[in-house]
Amino acid sequence: MNMQTRIQEKFRALFGEDGILYASAGRINLIGEHTDYNGGYVFPGAIDCGIVAAIRLNGTDKVNVCSLDYDECCSFGLREEDAPEKAWARYVFGVCRETLKRGGKVEGFNAVFAGDVPLGAGLSSSAALESCFAFALNDLFANGIDKFELARIGQSTEHNYCGVKCGIMDQFASIFGQEGKLIRLNCKTMEYKYFPFHPEGYRLVLIDSCVKHELASSAYNRRRASCENAAAAIRKNHPEVEFLSDAKRVWLDEVRADIPEEDFLRAEYVIGEVQRVLDVCDALERGDYETVGEMMYQTHFGMSRLYEVSCEELDFLNKLARKMDVTGSRVMGGGFGGCTINLVRNELYDSFIAAAKKEFEARFGHAPKVYDVVISDGARRL
Ligand code: ADP
Ligand code: MG
Repeated sequence: MNMQTRIQEKFRALFGEDGILYASAGRINLIGEHTDYNGGYVFPGAIDCGIVAAIRLNGTDKVNVCSLDYDECCSFGLREEDAPEKAWARYVFGVCRETLKRGGKVEGFNAVFAGDVPLGAGLSSSAALESCFAFALNDLFANGIDKFELARIGQSTEHNYCGVKCGIMDQFASIFGQEGKLIRLNCKTMEYKYFPFHPEGYRLVLIDSCVKHELASSAYNRRRASCENAAAAIRKNHPEVEFLSDAKRVWLDEVRADIPEEDFLRAEYVIGEVQRVLDVCDALERGDYETVGEMMYQTHFGMSRLYEVSCEELDFLNKLARKMDVTGSRVMGGGFGGCTINLVRNELYDSFIAAAKKEFEARFGHAPKVYDVVISDGARRL
């Protein structure tokens, strides 16, 4: 039975009628990693897995929401002090509160939802959940909140109700995503542009190493400090450099002797990565997926050797992809674990996936997970 049918059945069983169906999506980022806090580009798209919710106003001041996947229900009021305990319910509560804070109307409703984004795999199931409810409440209460603000509602929910200080990319992609299109977002100006993504003859597949190395948060802070330090050094010669992404490569070379070598390497990666996003966009407009793939390998090299946020498991998967002549492969997300994203020619797909499973398991003692993704629509009413 498909997800929509199961959700409606549960909704009818609980509330005696059908709900109105809304959906939203998880996301991938094709290229542009660790660029967001440097004022550079990211290049995400929504994918064909997400959250579906059935919702209907109930004429009270209470929200009754049921998670089908956890087989749990939760009821809460809409005042700040009504925050529920359950982690999954706080996403829904947070979206209600953040909508109210922006002057939107939210009153009691009933909801049942389920999802097929793997949790914690780097595909942003949480953004899918927030975006689904942010979009749905805006529609049901005719609040007229613009799409960017809907994305910010999701982001603020993570910040204020879930303890995750995330950027805007995940919610942006989940709200703005369109079938067959990736979105280049300038993290400094928030300007964005859609680019065609129709990889005919290729498949996009994620291989989840299922590891998460724990140095992630302190290492992240050190990377940020290095970037700021490099940008500050460059700014002395070129005052227009607000963020590292504003710097030209030759400007970085000018200050090489003035900054620690480590900061230089971090900055070299970031400046290269900003350019690679632009190069990938050009390649997509020509339909040149081989160049897209080559850029993905360059990003992996940079993340592994210059930015040093890869790990043994991810380097192993990347190396295997290269050896098997896969078109593109790189670590996706912040690093230190999670998935590689791979662009694979159809005829290579079966042998690559079989080899990745077998060789990874032989080396690391557990099988990786495999997620096929197609670039699809983001938040919408079904
Ligand atoms: P991710 O990287 O997938 O976003 P997070 O830890 O940020 O991982 O978010 C996962 C959390 O989002 C889950 O622990 C749960 O609270 C909530 N969530 C996501 N998908 C679902 C779902 N289908 N049903 C219930 N809760 C969900
Ligand atoms: Mg998340």
